[in-house]
Amino acid sequence: MFTSGGRVLKIVAVGHPVLRQKSRLLTKAEILSREVQQLIGDMRLTMRKAPGVGLAAPQVGLDIQLVVIEDIVTTPPREGEAAPPPPPEDDLERSRVAFHVLINPRLKVIDETPREFFEGCLSVGDFRALVTRVRGVRVRALDERAQPVEIEAFGWYARIVQHEVDHLNGVLCIDRMVSRSFTTVANLTEFWNDCSIAEVRRRLELE
Ligand code: ZN
Repeated sequence: MFTSGGRVLKIVAVGHPVLRQKSRLLTKAEILSREVQQLIGDMRLTMRKAPGVGLAAPQVGLDIQLVVIEDIVTTPPREGEAAPPPPPEDDLERSRVAFHVLINPRLKVIDETPREFFEGCLSVGDFRALVTRVRGVRVRALDERAQPVEIEAFGWYARIVQHEVDHLNGVLCIDRMVSRSFTTVANLTEFWNDCSIAEVRRRLELE
């Protein structure tokens, strides 16, 4: 079993060729090796420190089919603080996802309903853009013990899975983004956060 703790790895930025390669499958022996077990612990720590909700091996410079995912969801507002009501038609469907590892994942769409939200990537810096993803996916993969696992993911979790599996195929969210919506995080907060996605589309003249 991979060890807790570990090292914070360097996350490579867009433009690095490893982000554009197809990653190779891992053998069971490789998964159980000390190197990969240590890598999983290191990637977990790196994702948490970033902070991010997913990290794929190419993002730490390795062209292997391994991703880690964990969504602890932003802490709720403190008592006495008003929670900003989410725009009504923007149902993120975000919920807590425990830490887990997907190795050699195979993804199947199980709910093709399109969902459009602002999305970012630790390898792209402080930017966000609208990206359309399907609502639900099923993934068959191996876990950190090289045991087969099957997961079903919906909503925000499904978005994370699709984003991370894309990394293993050399695909980045900027390949799928609505380019007119590309924004810094600071400007997203200042100008767009209070808008529904429909309103964002109208203001950007995307309709
Ligand atoms: Zn990414």
